[in-house]
Amino acid sequence: MNCRHCGAPLRHTFLDLGFAPPSNAYLKAEDLNRPEIWFPLKIRVCDQCWLVQTEDHARADELFSPDYAYFSSTSGGWLEHARRYAQAITGRLGLGAGSFVIEVASNDGYLLKNFVAAGIPCLGIEPTAGTAAAAEAIGVPVLREFFGEALGRRLAGEGRRADLIAGNNVYAHVPDINDFTRGLAAALKPEGTITLEFPHLLRLIENNQFDTVYHEHFSYLSLHAVRRVFEAAGLRIYDVEELPTHGGSVRVYGCHAAAAMAQRPEVERVLRLEVEGGLLDLATYQAFQARADRVKDELLGFLLEQKRLGKTVAAYGAAAKGNTLLNYAGVKPDLLPFVCDAAPAKQGKYLPGSHIPIQAPRALAERRPDYVLILPWNIAAEVRAQNRHLAEQGTRFVTAVPRLEVM
Ligand SMILES: [Zn+2]
Repeated sequence: MNCRHCGAPLRHTFLDLGFAPPSNAYLKAEDLNRPEIWFPLKIRVCDQCWLVQTEDHARADELFSPDYAYFSSTSGGWLEHARRYAQAITGRLGLGAGSFVIEVASNDGYLLKNFVAAGIPCLGIEPTAGTAAAAEAIGVPVLREFFGEALGRRLAGEGRRADLIAGNNVYAHVPDINDFTRGLAAALKPEGTITLEFPHLLRLIENNQFDTVYHEHFSYLSLHAVRRVFEAAGLRIYDVEELPTHGGSVRVYGCHAAAAMAQRPEVERVLRLEVEGGLLDLATYQAFQARADRVKDELLGFLLEQKRLGKTVAAYGAAAKGNTLLNYAGVKPDLLPFVCDAAPAKQGKYLPGSHIPIQAPRALAERRPDYVLILPWNIAAEVRAQNRHLAEQGTRFVTAVPRLEVM
């Protein structure tokens, strides 16, 4: 296989998690006796442009299960993040009634509704029918398509180039990153701005976040790699911000290569952080598998020890992260008999691969396990605060990433 960005042969493995089912393929009871498809989950790194990427195996449409579309508006924290971004970028770019904003992967309108409320014309691009309909219901115009160069050119041809193109947590999910980036360039006005948010590869490596690896993620991005992809499409990066979301993300600000924007010092600062973090050194990537294995081994050791001692362990949070970790570790219901999740659509179903049953959070109060393993470690503080009553009755909380920690 060759690099999706620069075409160089991919000779180095960053992480090999064996095989796993798609992380959102939750099962119904009647599915449990049927065969389940497991795809290879192997991540490679390009030693020419440092794009970290999945090995090709399955078509994107085999991975996305329409039944489990994620609605961004279900997270209060994320809505607030979007509202603050909309306010800040409107002021910074001086957006108004004569401007045009495009959001790629606009989901249920969680972000664009802020522009609609401010009277700024906008357009969402969202192929998932359920979320697109939810956005339209609150007054956000949506084009139900996948974004790429063809659509970017079409919008430009219709005179609909944007002053701002936003993309939150879509860039890492794009199979053809070059085509997508050329689309951004085509749909952007000469002095327009692109902002993209994505989990920062530097944080993934530093904090052993190997459980954020799943099939739907095609790229794991550093500023160095994104800068190269942008430059190949006639764009450049003029600013960057570090964000706490998803365990550590960055928001890059891009523009046409010839645009007037001056490059802010933050760009050099984050590039330097990446150099210091070893992101331009193959050895850093080659050392990562051992770090992931240590997380897996510590979790398995803990679960086996509790089983031997006759203690009970349950999990909280039936999210993609948990599925990657549990399937790589080979954890089954004998070690982890149930997982609780607040989303009613998941309750009564089973985790893909591990077949651990998903219950409503009240099961924790009813069954009072000795330990609760919080799988989405990024919301561990929130989960502990919501379940303080369990701690008062002696239940202890556990997270596995970046190290096994019993709280
Ligand atoms: Zn490359």
